[in-house]
Amino acid sequence: MSFSSLGLAPSLVNAVAAIGYQEATAIQRAAIPAILRGEDVLGAAQTGSGKTAAFVLPLLQSLLDNRDGPRQLHGLILVPTRELAAQVGESVRKLVAQLTMPVKVAIVFGGVSINPQMMALRGGADIVVATPGRLLDLIDHNALKISRVAMLVLDEADRLLDLGFSEELARILELLPKQRQNLFFSATFPPAVQTLADTMLHQPTRVEV
Ligand code: AMP
Repeated sequence: MSFSSLGLAPSLVNAVAAIGYQEATAIQRAAIPAILRGEDVLGAAQTGSGKTAAFVLPLLQSLLDNRDGPRQLHGLILVPTRELAAQVGESVRKLVAQLTMPVKVAIVFGGVSINPQMMALRGGADIVVATPGRLLDLIDHNALKISRVAMLVLDEADRLLDLGFSEELARILELLPKQRQNLFFSATFPPAVQTLADTMLHQPTRVEV
């Protein structure tokens, strides 16, 4: 199935074509229309399924549709590791590079100096890809605010919990606005992951591949 039949804007259909994707993967076919309708989505998907583009494309569309007024953080993507932060951030930037509208993407993770990340966040960002601990450090340093986030993505939620991020996630959820869209992706659904999904999601559409 082609990307144009999923409800994506022409600029995004052109962007995926330019980076060489011809057909949407199963997770993309199932998740993109639901996310574009504004629904919360619970996705059971492994790495390699194309899940990153499944949430990044509708996130970009939501950003392009709501681009008025001063720049404020629109999309927050939480990931368990710096490697995944770098990888997801690269996927976002690759698509953004094809757009005519400027979209500022910041990638932040722990284990490295916080100062360059604080500098990178000056003037704000539209999309932040973050590991939870460093995100909270940056919030504590007043380097960013998450109170106006429209879309929250948890990527590899099972690994976020395995790595002990549940307290950080609880704090982050308290700082986010109540009115927002939530996308939750995990490869596995043990009870703790299901409980987190139940707390975070509002009548989610389930997507499995
Ligand atoms: P992911 O599961 O998001 O980590 O994606 C796995 C790989 O598939 C990445 O290298 C993507 O660039 C690639 N990919 C994602 N969607 C598509 C698609 N529709 N067509 C071809 N390659 C894709």
